Amino acid sequence: MALKLYNTMGRKIEEFKSIRDGYVGFYGCGPTVYNYAHIGNLRAYVFLDTLDRTLTFLGYDKKHVMNITDVGHLTGDSDDGDDKMVKTAEEKHQSVMEIAQFYTDAFFRDIDRLNIIRPDVVCKATDHIQEMIDLIKKIEANGHTYMAGGNLYFDVSTYKNYGDLANLNLDELKEGAGRRKEVVIDENKKNPQDFVLWFTKSKFENQALTWDSPWGRGYPGWHIECSAMSMKYLGKHFDIHTGGIDHVPVHHTNEIAQSEGSFSEEDRKQGPWVNYWLHNEFLVLQGATKMSKSSGNFLTLQSLIDKGYDALDYRFFLLGAHYRKQILFSWDAMDGAKKSREALAGRIAKLADKSHVLKKASEKKYGKGQAADTTGMSEKACEYMGKFKDALENDLLAPVALSMIQKVVKDNAIENPEKIELVSRMDTVIGLKLLETAASVLEAEEKSASVNPHEGDPEAAEIDALVAERTQAKKNKDFARADQIRDELSARGITIVDTPTGPTWKRA
Ligand code: AMP
Ligand code: ZN
Repeated sequence: MALKLYNTMGRKIEEFKSIRDGYVGFYGCGPTVYNYAHIGNLRAYVFLDTLDRTLTFLGYDKKHVMNITDVGHLTGDSDDGDDKMVKTAEEKHQSVMEIAQFYTDAFFRDIDRLNIIRPDVVCKATDHIQEMIDLIKKIEANGHTYMAGGNLYFDVSTYKNYGDLANLNLDELKEGAGRRKEVVIDENKKNPQDFVLWFTKSKFENQALTWDSPWGRGYPGWHIECSAMSMKYLGKHFDIHTGGIDHVPVHHTNEIAQSEGSFSEEDRKQGPWVNYWLHNEFLVLQGATKMSKSSGNFLTLQSLIDKGYDALDYRFFLLGAHYRKQILFSWDAMDGAKKSREALAGRIAKLADKSHVLKKASEKKYGKGQAADTTGMSEKACEYMGKFKDALENDLLAPVALSMIQKVVKDNAIENPEKIELVSRMDTVIGLKLLETAASVLEAEEKSASVNPHEGDPEAAEIDALVAERTQAKKNKDFARADQIRDELSARGITIVDTPTGPTWKRA
């Protein structure tokens, strides 16, 4: 089988062919850093990580580029609302740059905790204003722009394929039928879908960041950064562009119009700007409407951790669904993911006699294509590896790939050392740190068999009972009682430590 991907452009599964043999250039829209990423946002990056890891597994060289939006993103995708960065900076009495740095650091902390491989290039919008200006000049020279009310707009009527990605019909939209609710009336716009490339007449008198440009001092519209930075790092034509499905009708539609609107006749002959558009479906909260950073109605990874989950429980939960299926978040589902991940790690722990065997296997590194190479493996192992690879090649079916690991571990027809080898290779894509976790399970067992850390502590029995009561309270979802016990112990200088074999405690 060859890699097949669902292309939003054309809405069908296609065989993937890279522009350059054996090399894939791809760009994923990164975070707007005015608040913490919510767990829905993080779904987009776990999906992108599955793509990144799969490409390496399948033997490709790759370049993964991600932007950090630290300027120009208004609360509405269509140039309406407040400036997200400026609004937070004002609320927190900090500079926009301080806000951006704080939430960028927080974002990467979450990325690391989810064991997401960092992109090869991370680029900040504010570091690429000149590239944006240069691109806008080309778009202007090609006759796609007009000035109105002090801002430079992209005129969508001049770009004949506008809306292909989202199957938008401009004529219908003009008549008002099916008009998207976020397309608000801007008196300056000739067409409702026109969008700002460069703002000079800021609605915000105290706009913190502005730059000189041929159109006056101002700042870029939101969409232009992705076109300018992706082309800078990946060239005028690249393989894959990703984002959440909310980006289809406005952000990515506009990115295409302006990128291809900047093309020369010769560029156009070389093919489209992007060949494959991949979009992840949303994570939704039970009973709630949309999870949204700007409304403040959202859950962060830290809030899951505070409730006693490991970040990898959330990764396990996400991998249980295909990226194109909507997922409903619930605490029950998180409990299920936690249990399954721990059970899997527990089973893997039983594959070795000593933790250092698993630890060593967990440290093995695989270059491109090496983890998938089954040379010298048993027939049964090859069969599993074949199914694992097929699942990934079938539009990145992570849930099926994950289930292969679970089957391998349970299959008595495979010897333990080979099972460990298979888990190590498959986890290069699944990214759950399975061997590392299993090693710590075994290590904890080894330790508890040899010493009692609380021997001679007169309060040990009482503290053990409180820790057990807290575990039960958490199981009963009585988080108030659980937190109360944690605080009480903390006041006595005792910290509860969550381990894969259950909670234990230590004195400060
Ligand atoms: P933002 O930081 O708002 O620009 O969004 C970062 C990424 O998260 C984008 O690719 C969005 O499409 C994606 N996204 C936003 N909300 C969700 C959600 N609830 N579920 C999955 N992806 C989302
Ligand atoms: Zn983008």
